Amino acid sequence: MQKVKIHDKEFAVSIPKTLIEERIAALGRKITEDYAGKQPVFLVVLKGAFLFAADLLRNVCLDCEITFIRVGSYEGTQSTGVVRSILGLSEKVHGKHLIIIEDIVDTGNTMMHLIEELKKSEPLDIKVASLLLKPEALKHNIHVDYVGFSVANDFLVGYGLDYDGHGRNLKEIYKIVE
Ligand code: 5GP
Ligand code: MG
Repeated sequence: MQKVKIHDKEFAVSIPKTLIEERIAALGRKITEDYAGKQPVFLVVLKGAFLFAADLLRNVCLDCEITFIRVGSYEGTQSTGVVRSILGLSEKVHGKHLIIIEDIVDTGNTMMHLIEELKKSEPLDIKVASLLLKPEALKHNIHVDYVGFSVANDFLVGYGLDYDGHGRNLKEIYKIVE
């Protein structure tokens, strides 16, 4: 099996390139059907979703807007703990159909905060497309409308996902070798 070493850890291919391509093409077709006649706004969550978004959006045949955001975080002074803000969102989202493009939904913390923040701008609706979903790790009641692959609770890298800044450019999705 094809392996790579990133920093101190070894990773083996978990989802091969052809499977990723096929699955993303299918998601693109589904989104194209679901949003026929609509003009959605895609919000790509950087950095991890950059490759997924590029491949997905090439399979979406709609008149749409595409924008890029980052989810900032800092320890708040309130007892609520971590406060997250959306960085880079300059487009108008009020009254629009939003589709968030993420690399992975793990505990769902990030997605939950993102959705809550976006709702303040009163979009028409918000849907989520995530390349990966770890159902066993999910702690919040979040519905991921378009899931590439449901995966186990392993640490993954490649195809946008990093291990300490490295590995994002790998063509396949790799899983850590314990
Ligand atoms: P959540 O807020 O859903 O727990 O996950 C947020 C972030 O954790 C993801 O956007 C991603 O950056 C990171 N993450 C979760 N699982 C993995 C993984 O298996 N590999 C990598 N590289 N990042 C992960
Ligand atoms: Mg992410």
